[in-house]
Amino acid sequence: MLSVIIPCKNEEGNIVNIHKRFTEVLKDIDYELIFIDDGSTDKTLEKIEEIYKEDKEHVKGISFSRNFMKDAAIYAGLENCIGDYACIIDADLQQNPHYLLDMLDFLENNPEYDEVAMVQSKRKRESLLMRSCKRAFYFIIDLLSDTKFNNGASDFRMFRRVVIDTVVDFGEKNRFTKGIFSWIGFNVKYMEYEAEERQSGTTKFNFKASFKYAMNGIYSFSNKPLKLANYVGMGLLFSSFVYLVVMIILLLVDVLSFNVLYIIIWLLLLIGGIQLITIGILGEYLAKTYNEVKDRPIYIAKKKIGFDDKLL
Ligand code: UDP
Ligand code: MG
Repeated sequence: MLSVIIPCKNEEGNIVNIHKRFTEVLKDIDYELIFIDDGSTDKTLEKIEEIYKEDKEHVKGISFSRNFMKDAAIYAGLENCIGDYACIIDADLQQNPHYLLDMLDFLENNPEYDEVAMVQSKRKRESLLMRSCKRAFYFIIDLLSDTKFNNGASDFRMFRRVVIDTVVDFGEKNRFTKGIFSWIGFNVKYMEYEAEERQSGTTKFNFKASFKYAMNGIYSFSNKPLKLANYVGMGLLFSSFVYLVVMIILLLVDVLSFNVLYIIIWLLLLIGGIQLITIGILGEYLAKTYNEVKDRPIYIAKKKIGFDDKLL
């Protein structure tokens, strides 16, 4: 069975349409459509109930008490799905449902792969500012994080039950789905797709929402900002040392005459450096604590050989 997870925030104009498209495309396979109403303020929930009444066999819905953001919606879908495969897809039909058949076909015929991630071949029409910001985000997060992010890979992906269970078991509450999928590993096949125009409504990721999302990603998948004080502190300490040496030489060769101000500047550099390094040490401990609190698994086994349970 294939579980299709569709996060929806204010998508009233798309629900009926997306149900119709999925019914056409998936007619030959066993599937469920899980709509997650992520705190919509329009008629999204009513539309989900409407299609549920029409098609109780395939439609399921979860409605949140308020907006918890797309990553929470994805989690709710994965936690409640019963498929052997799950696919995450947006509600606006920017991602053509017929790709689902290609993804499923690929996974069924290539047992060595666990996941298919779709990458946009032609980027959606976005403003230059948004595009540049996205590029900058991937550059910064790749620089700061040990987890590698494939620029352009979206949440549009399909994966096997073993991946569903792993992602659901993943301890952290503050979920940056793209990062989690990169972090857990498994064999991923990247396929290209062409994004289409949004069918109805407007994007939910305006600049502010995207910025918040990006910062969450960086803080969830990198501890380096916590260690920044250390580097700056070391720089200050080093410059205080260079400053002292240069000052003594200049005083000895009589280029400068003694002034108490020189000592004060040196002390400022020295004390500033020591303080920042101390904060940096706290940062190191905090980073370790943060890692523990996130409660990520120590390892993820894909298969066990010679043990009673073959698959985790
Ligand atoms: N979405 C959601 N919760 C949010 C924001 C967005 O469930 O807080 C859903 C939205 O309904 C859509 C998907 O996430 O199905 C992607 O959003 P959108 O199409 O607005 O993003 P874009 O394609 O512009 O990046
Ligand atoms: Mg969209």
